[in-house]
Amino acid sequence: MARPRLIFLGPPGTGKGTQAARMATRYNLTACSSGDALRDEIREQSEIGRQVNEYVESGTLVPDELITDVMLAAIDKFPESSGFILDGFPRTVPQAESLAVGMEKRSLPLDGVLDFQLDHRKIIERITSRRICSNCNRTYNLLFMPPAVAGQCDACGHKLLQRVDDCEDVIATRLATYEELTVPLVSYYTTRNLLHRIDADAAPDQVAEAVAAVIDRLLES
Ligand code: AMP
Repeated sequence: MARPRLIFLGPPGTGKGTQAARMATRYNLTACSSGDALRDEIREQSEIGRQVNEYVESGTLVPDELITDVMLAAIDKFPESSGFILDGFPRTVPQAESLAVGMEKRSLPLDGVLDFQLDHRKIIERITSRRICSNCNRTYNLLFMPPAVAGQCDACGHKLLQRVDDCEDVIATRLATYEELTVPLVSYYTTRNLLHRIDADAAPDQVAEAVAAVIDRLLES
């Protein structure tokens, strides 16, 4: 396998985005976060941004068809020979089914789905201390990945903000939505022999090694 095509699955706050960025650099892959794609649309006040704003702010899922169109359009812009990591998509069985159809049409079969696991108490602790760059979406964590200068992005110098959906009551909605609509993807991808579990309850460097071990195995197969 030249370049893997991967999905990073798991509740919010498990470090998928951080690991997607690290693996993209390590293996020269394109990482694409569905949440970032939607936040970019909202920031640009595009038509899609206006349609999805309420869902994102309240921690509920945007309609399957809309997010699938956004993500397939993003995939079509990836460099042709690049492998990729989809972070946060799919999040429902209908999205996974539409993605499978889209990938088949493009002759781009999926190679693996990495399922990041962490208990809810730790998820809440991590999310409430998360900060995100208002300009480049780079994510920090005040507990274990703080910026060099408080309140400022190391990469571009812009201001760090707390996401409106990173407050405790919205996190509860997001976790409940995850349990109801996204957890069924675990058995969906297990039956397709694509699922790999990742213990996300460790420092980012340790989790990165566990993720890289899975990717290395996939590359060898
Ligand atoms: P995230 O950054 O992955 O936590 O996503 C933030 C928000 O974007 C979610 O709470 C949803 O409102 C929306 N979103 C992101 N990905 C999806 C998806 N695959 N399906 C539906 N909504 C999504």
